[in-house]
Amino acid sequence: MAKVLVIGGGPGGLFAAAEAAGRGFDVTLMEKGKIGEDIRCAEGFFDVLKLLGKPCAGVRFKVETLIFEARSTYRFDARSLNLWMIDRSTWQKELSRRAVEKGVKIMENSPVLPKDLEKLKTIYDFIIDASGAPPVTSRALGFSSFYKQNSGKTVQYLVEGDFSHIGNALKVGFLPDFWGYYWIFPKGKDEQGKETANVGIGDFNPLSRRNLRNMLDEVFKKERLDDGNHKIVKILGGICPTRMPNRLTYDNIMLVGDAAGLTSPLHGGGIDMAVLSGMTAARALADGPAKYEAELKKLLYRRLQFEDMVAEAWRRRNLDQVDNILSLAHTLRLYKLLSHPRLMNPLTVKFLELIF
Ligand SMILES: Cc1cc2nc3c(=O)[nH]c(=O)nc-3n(C[C@H](O)[C@H](O)[C@H](O)COP(=O)(O)OP(=O)(O)OC[C@H]3O[C@@H](n4cnc5c(N)ncnc54)[C@H](O)[C@@H]3O)c2cc1C
Repeated sequence: MAKVLVIGGGPGGLFAAAEAAGRGFDVTLMEKGKIGEDIRCAEGFFDVLKLLGKPCAGVRFKVETLIFEARSTYRFDARSLNLWMIDRSTWQKELSRRAVEKGVKIMENSPVLPKDLEKLKTIYDFIIDASGAPPVTSRALGFSSFYKQNSGKTVQYLVEGDFSHIGNALKVGFLPDFWGYYWIFPKGKDEQGKETANVGIGDFNPLSRRNLRNMLDEVFKKERLDDGNHKIVKILGGICPTRMPNRLTYDNIMLVGDAAGLTSPLHGGGIDMAVLSGMTAARALADGPAKYEAELKKLLYRRLQFEDMVAEAWRRRNLDQVDNILSLAHTLRLYKLLSHPRLMNPLTVKFLELIF
């Protein structure tokens, strides 16, 4: 039985490990902390390509409405999207339980150090590096700066308080002279009856040096969350890597998820691509790492090209123009086009550019 080491117990690593074990490989997963803890995410699970379906655990609600705010506020029907608000901790703990059931040996509190990678390459037949961005492999081989240079930056608060005014919706807001957005993603009530939301801001201009913490405090006031009834209980941040490095394979190592630079260049979401790349890597094990890269690019190329083009078009527009686009998309119901993965192609972008 060929031996596989998976580094990291996020969505990419957990799906890769379970898939590889299901295919008869001898799989060990090493996680530096505890699975389901220290998660940096707004927890909107957007299965853009409609290949994954509803998460097996941790679903808080199916998102029914997307609220976009530029100069005005627009409510879009999101029921045709595969979009759920989830509790990632619950989800990942369940994924871990299922992986163990399939035979994966999970070692928590076991960081893989860059200096140990060369030796691990000789002990294991394959290594799937799902350690996020920048991954262990990049630190061992000296390309970790690539991720910082090709990533969106974020700051996020976990906020306790009443978010019933938003309901089963996610809110996204745009600001003047800012190529990024803020979000309010309510999580509903937890087991103790506490209501929380992830409130954050992301900047997708790699050259920008904006103070996101100050900007998020301004958003807090704008959204009237400084009313004394909402309390910030956790502050976190992180990067969303939006470019694949030149190579995804290094000898017998394969990079998946954030380690492969796989968050959306349009909105920074990456849970779905972490899952897809983890499964693709595990499925390619029998044919070798080269097959992985080819299969993954085949699966994601059109989607990423589409999102790149839309992001590029957005970058060229100011807040008033973004508001006009939202208004027109709302009136003509053009956003419905975007719930069909097959329409994610350059022709659709050209068509939309003509209209807008
Ligand atoms: C603020 C923020 C909000 C986001 N919101 C969303 C969202 O709403 N929807 C969405 O789809 N995406 C979102 N993303 C992106 C999403 O979180 C990632 O794309 C996704 O978590 C990637 O999964 P992954 O398995 O590749 O990596 P991760 O989830 O980062 O998992 C990596 C794992 O590896 C472990 N690890 C790291 N180093 C080592 C080591 N040396 N040895 C062993 N283990 C190690 C870590 O502890 C971690 O458990 C957000 C990102 C940020 C920063």
